[in-house]
Amino acid sequence: MDKPRPLVEVYNLKKYFPVKGVKGPGVRAVEDVSFTISRGETLGLVGESGCGKTTLGRTLLQLYPPTAGRIVYDGVTLFEGEDPFRPGGPGRAARHTCADMLPYRRKMQIIFQDPSASLDPRMTVGEIIGQAIDIHRLADTRAQRAQRIGELLARVGLNPAQAGCYPHEFSGGQQQRVGIARALAVEPEFLVCDEPISALDVSIQSQVINMLEDMQAQLGLTYLFIAHDLSVVRHISTRIGVMYLGRLVELAPSDELSGHPLHPYTRTLLSAVPVPDPRASRERKRIVLRGELPSPVHPPAGCPFHTRCPYAFSRCGEEPPPFREHAPGRWAACHLLN
Ligand code: SF4
Repeated sequence: MDKPRPLVEVYNLKKYFPVKGVKGPGVRAVEDVSFTISRGETLGLVGESGCGKTTLGRTLLQLYPPTAGRIVYDGVTLFEGEDPFRPGGPGRAARHTCADMLPYRRKMQIIFQDPSASLDPRMTVGEIIGQAIDIHRLADTRAQRAQRIGELLARVGLNPAQAGCYPHEFSGGQQQRVGIARALAVEPEFLVCDEPISALDVSIQSQVINMLEDMQAQLGLTYLFIAHDLSVVRHISTRIGVMYLGRLVELAPSDELSGHPLHPYTRTLLSAVPVPDPRASRERKRIVLRGELPSPVHPPAGCPFHTRCPYAFSRCGEEPPPFREHAPGRWAACHLLN
């Protein structure tokens, strides 16, 4: 039997932000990233702050216009464009033809990192959730709309009677539940969860994670789950992608990546994950990276990690390692593996 087509396909995606006074692409926030996500799967995305994971999530949803690459959703190409900065290219952002995004805006939603900043303080939570229902005309009557708002609040563990309250009347965890209810209001298939728990108290984090897992089981949702904390991503994800300086450097099933990381940067991230056993924790050696994350305006030549990699050798500074499949489902970009 043929393997089903992935729900989300991303090929050679690039997102550059122009910088005033700087010639060329500017900030190379996402550089040549490719991956797929199967229906019902959770793909985790990790990397330190500034590595491009949030930009990748937003570019995938076309909240930021992509610079180049191809985005396919459920077999339909939503974006396709050549890199304007390739040798012989026009050297400035080009306009690309895309499929009409409106039907896909409903299917593809986002949960933001900071719930307080993503909810309009002048609107009640009922109005915030109702706005999404109105845009996509998902209720025929006022009664239907009110009933739907109540159901959504109940689904995320809030009291439907609180529909008339304003965001500031809720705790941070409750505000994030409102953000999740708003995303669910349009009956999406795919959610980009952009660090959805990093602004919350530790005691609340597991409640939100459990709720996302329950929703996935009940509604058959597909997630791109972005976080800087590998221990959280490991818990919720089927597979994990590791990003460094705008590039995907490793992609593997969650347990294989945790148990046997291939890329030196993944090993560094894993060495920082706390372990519950104090003896194991004492015996484990934490790998501390030297230097800072290089500027994405002037990324290093060759392997982007070579300025900080403990295993770097001469070839690493000259030639970028290809992102290759080294075993079924195990992708990594490192010359040591070739
Ligand atoms: Fe380190 Fe070289 Fe591998 Fe890059 S290619 S991760 S610098 S060993």
